[in-house]
Amino acid sequence: MPEGDVSMAEESNNGSGLDYIMSLEDVPSKLPPHLELFKTRVLCNNDAPVHTETIQYSGAYATLGVDNSVRLDNFCENFKVEVKRLTDSDMEFDLIGIDPAIANAFRRILISEVPTMAIERVYIANNTSVVQDEVLSHRLGLVPIRADPRLFEYPENAGDDKNEKNTIVFKLHARCRVGQPRITVKSDKLKWLPNGSELPCEDVRSNAGSKPKTFTSFTCSQDSLPEFSGNSISVTYPDIILAKLGPGQEIELEAHAVKGIGRTHAKWSPVATAWYRMLPEVVLLEDVVDEVADELKNKCPANVFDIEDFGKGNRRATVARPRDCTLCRECIRGGKEWEDRVSLRRVKHHCIFTIESTGALPPEVLFTEAVKILEDKCERVITELS
Ligand code: SF4
Repeated sequence: MPEGDVSMAEESNNGSGLDYIMSLEDVPSKLPPHLELFKTRVLCNNDAPVHTETIQYSGAYATLGVDNSVRLDNFCENFKVEVKRLTDSDMEFDLIGIDPAIANAFRRILISEVPTMAIERVYIANNTSVVQDEVLSHRLGLVPIRADPRLFEYPENAGDDKNEKNTIVFKLHARCRVGQPRITVKSDKLKWLPNGSELPCEDVRSNAGSKPKTFTSFTCSQDSLPEFSGNSISVTYPDIILAKLGPGQEIELEAHAVKGIGRTHAKWSPVATAWYRMLPEVVLLEDVVDEVADELKNKCPANVFDIEDFGKGNRRATVARPRDCTLCRECIRGGKEWEDRVSLRRVKHHCIFTIESTGALPPEVLFTEAVKILEDKCERVITELS
């Protein structure tokens, strides 16, 4: 064996053979540009997007000497969260350096696994309105409740015991007197009862003299608990229409809210919606000038392009607002020449994530709760495997 081959074999035996190969001039240390493009971008062609898959296999580029394995230190170095917009009810932020599958996991957890409080049982004492009991109960179930679900227990853990730790009780009493005009019953009519139910659940006459049994068994008032001090419970929006009452009609009921998740029923979903999209990238493949630049600018309904003057009355198109691109593909329609001018791409590992909360919890808290749930799931998997 020649001398050089001996030293290479020795290095391979020491576990540093790859270093030796990488040091050779004709072995690339990173992917060639076209493979890098296919790995990191979705190319949005006129007919369909291509290279939509994410390449996970660690040995995918082994023949090129490029290691494709996921490394925790690389992930920590590259991963970033940038909040772009934050209000009481919605948030837009960028998840950078993350696989879209993980972003999708957060989306699914937000919709169906982060718990909230929602009305589950409705005890109707009187309903002479035109809205049937079932329809009214369904409408009540969909009214968002402003109460932190982390302070409550799931009702299934408590059996039939409806106590201050697992139930929120609201009362609604509305009446339209004879001779009055029609009235609209809105969600602000739901009044929180911190001491629990007031409706007797058995015949009062059979228990004459003793305090009637109600539908809950609170041991104390909820507003006396430290976790609720300064944190009053109410509906999130006071102006949701529940029913309309004509003269002589009346609704009297009690609504009991419990903790649950959106997978059981959409009323427990904490988000109106949660979605993500990959960061759009719009690249001009050639200089687009003068009238063609004007035409390109006018083609785009999202106003992504601007016109820049580069002296002597010459004008060219620039990509000013790529983030606003909706991928409608209008700019590459109209013939092959347009496809040769503009390349539409999506950055695979840069997700623009949007959360619209229903109001139970602020959107930033919802996301941290989703992260905790995914963390728990990962821990469960690791425990099962070990
Ligand atoms: S795909 Fe549509 S929104 Fe995006 S740059 Fe082209 S025309 Fe504008």
